[in-house]
Amino acid sequence: MDIAAERIDRLHDLARAAAADGEDERAKHYVRLARRVAERNRLSLPRTFKRFTCDACDAYLRPGVNARVRLQDGHVVITCDCGHHARYPYE
Ligand SMILES: [Zn+2]
Repeated sequence: MDIAAERIDRLHDLARAAAADGEDERAKHYVRLARRVAERNRLSLPRTFKRFTCDACDAYLRPGVNARVRLQDGHVVITCDCGHHARYPYE
């Protein structure tokens, strides 16, 4: 794993920890930083990162807390508190 990928991983952990502490703004800050690192290094973000962050508002999503998850037509639909939906194939 190179340094940029490690940084993204670390920022993902920090975002998750901040979200768990109810520090939503701090979590968003880490999510944005991780996105920036990925962009600058032309890396794609890990799948778990994509699934647990909102593309619209950069929130770190916690199902049952600031996001709702439902299954629909073989897809997982995650709805952020900001109203943004994301759909993923069910695995
Ligand atoms: Zn959102």
